[in-house]
Amino acid sequence: MSAKRQQKTPICKKFYSLQSGRWQPANRFFEAIEPELAEIDGLLVRNSRIVLPKSLTERALHIAHDGHLGMSGMKKMLRTKVWWKSMDKDVEEFVKTCFGCQLVANLPAPLPLVSTPLPTTA
Ligand SMILES: [Zn+2]
Repeated sequence: MSAKRQQKTPICKKFYSLQSGRWQPANRFFEAIEPELAEIDGLLVRNSRIVLPKSLTERALHIAHDGHLGMSGMKKMLRTKVWWKSMDKDVEEFVKTCFGCQLVANLPAPLPLVSTPLPTTA
């Protein structure tokens, strides 16, 4: 990818900023987490998670939504592999639109176990 093209996509602007140490105002948030960012084989990563470009976040939400895990289940699944700035908020908005996930979220807590006394006579 040419240097000129790299400037055009938001994720590549972060690469450029990461390499040059010069962060534009739009990427100030990323400057704050710079010690956690790295470039590995053309991917931008934050610690061990891939930083997704905005164009892929909707797809990631749909993949994580398989099985209607609800808000916490989706967040847990996504946090194992990927990261983007508004991930938590996007999951919350996404789950609000799904009736199945709402059902999972509103399940009552299981009743506590109660032991039954053993019979004392035959
Ligand atoms: Zn759902």
